[in-house]
Amino acid sequence: MEKFDVAVIGAGMAGITAARDLSKKGLSVVVLEARDRVGGRTYLEKGLGDKIELGGAYVHWTQAHVWHELQKHGISLLPPLTATKAYWLADGSVHSGTEEEYYETLGPVMTQLFADARERFPLPYMINAVDNSDIERESIEDRIQSLGLSAYHRDVLDGALAGVVHKHKDHGIAQLLHCVATYFGDYKAFFETASFWAMEGGTKRLIDAILSESTAELRLSTPVTAIQDRGSNVSITTRAGQMVLVRSAIVAVPLNTLGDIEITPSLPRLVAQMIEQKNPVMASKIWARVRGEIEGFAAFAPVGQHPINAARTERYYDGDTLIMCICSDAAAIRADDLTAVQAALRRFVPDIEVVDTASHSWANDEFSQGGWMMHRPGHLTNGAAQIRQGHGRIRFAGSDIAGLEVGAIEGAMESAAAAARDVAAALATSDRSLPTTRPRM
Ligand SMILES: Cc1cc2nc3c(=O)[nH]c(=O)nc-3n(C[C@H](O)[C@H](O)[C@H](O)COP(=O)(O)OP(=O)(O)OC[C@H]3O[C@@H](n4cnc5c(N)ncnc54)[C@H](O)[C@@H]3O)c2cc1C
Repeated sequence: MEKFDVAVIGAGMAGITAARDLSKKGLSVVVLEARDRVGGRTYLEKGLGDKIELGGAYVHWTQAHVWHELQKHGISLLPPLTATKAYWLADGSVHSGTEEEYYETLGPVMTQLFADARERFPLPYMINAVDNSDIERESIEDRIQSLGLSAYHRDVLDGALAGVVHKHKDHGIAQLLHCVATYFGDYKAFFETASFWAMEGGTKRLIDAILSESTAELRLSTPVTAIQDRGSNVSITTRAGQMVLVRSAIVAVPLNTLGDIEITPSLPRLVAQMIEQKNPVMASKIWARVRGEIEGFAAFAPVGQHPINAARTERYYDGDTLIMCICSDAAAIRADDLTAVQAALRRFVPDIEVVDTASHSWANDEFSQGGWMMHRPGHLTNGAAQIRQGHGRIRFAGSDIAGLEVGAIEGAMESAAAAARDVAAALATSDRSLPTTRPRM
């Protein structure tokens, strides 16, 4: 049986970061990745005549881990195209105005929604600094209902959130409050970090840069089916029936695929519950190439009222415009149906002409089974916090269970750095079970 110090399961941003950090410490590391490519839910691919990000793309200089890597590797950010016009579907009709006018309408209701964000998460890096058990029972829908908004203002608010949620009643309000608290309680700052600034050269450039610093052995097309902590070591079994023996393992797969891996001994109850209930986000990102260089715009529509819930002119390319669309329910529209995508965009911009589209079906992809993480009520401060403590010799990383910047590339990297640090420390000081010394965050 092959032996390594550490096995990292999954080669998304979290997995490659953890493997790089551990291999730089002189440990022997094997990365077992199910797909035939690295990057996971980041995926720079050819499309629309150019290269496009089919998965996670937007980062920000305020994100410590991402920015550190970008600076180290000389990767810049691309300024977003200015949206001079905003469209928002509310109370049955499409409204339009300047971006400033849109934010004048949205601002007061967003402020109401997130009024207690900083009080709830005064130390965002320590998620359980205060008892939030009451808001962990609250869904986004409960919170919106409690605001007593008019139909118009409810739709304005709903449309602004629709780009990050699937269905309001499936998600807890806690994660959104936490995200906004991370950005000083300012929802607009949070949204800017999450949806505007792409990496020059794309996510692949960052992945290549991280891999170039790593001596970990990378095995693609190697899905893992079982992980067993045997007390003095961990055995990993792949779908092909190979076994690898390691001193410690870091599991960096999406929450929605974690249930497909048999982990022994069993995980604690709240962790198992989170894995069983899964990440509800079944959204899609559709790229549309539209004829001509059109005026920059941003458009918003409430969940369930329109197949495209957020759309934004991303950049001009070869005389045309590339538009990035988010659909809160991937099943509501087929990305390859150009007529449907055009009809949906025409609700906002009547004369728009779609000439091509591109997308990746994250919901139907066996190795993601969903989109970005937006926790169900109850999991953010319970199951997710517990799983970060590790399980004997097995540690977990990834954006889905991150303690900061949950659901984002930054969260993937932050959680990976923490997991790698803990594993390296444990392997350096003890050959027995990994201590769980980190404070509960
Ligand atoms: C459409 C979309 C848009 C997004 N937009 C943004 C954005 O703009 N900004 C942002 O910050 N974030 C965004 N995100 C979220 C971000 O992309 C992810 O949160 C982040 O990339 C996840 O990294 P990860 O390493 O934790 O997980 P992943 O990237 O999912 O990596 C996990 C890896 O594990 C592998 N795996 C799964 N099961 C197994 C198994 N059994 N055995 C071995 N390997 C396995 C997978 O193949 C994958 O490579 C977006 C996500 C999507 C889907």
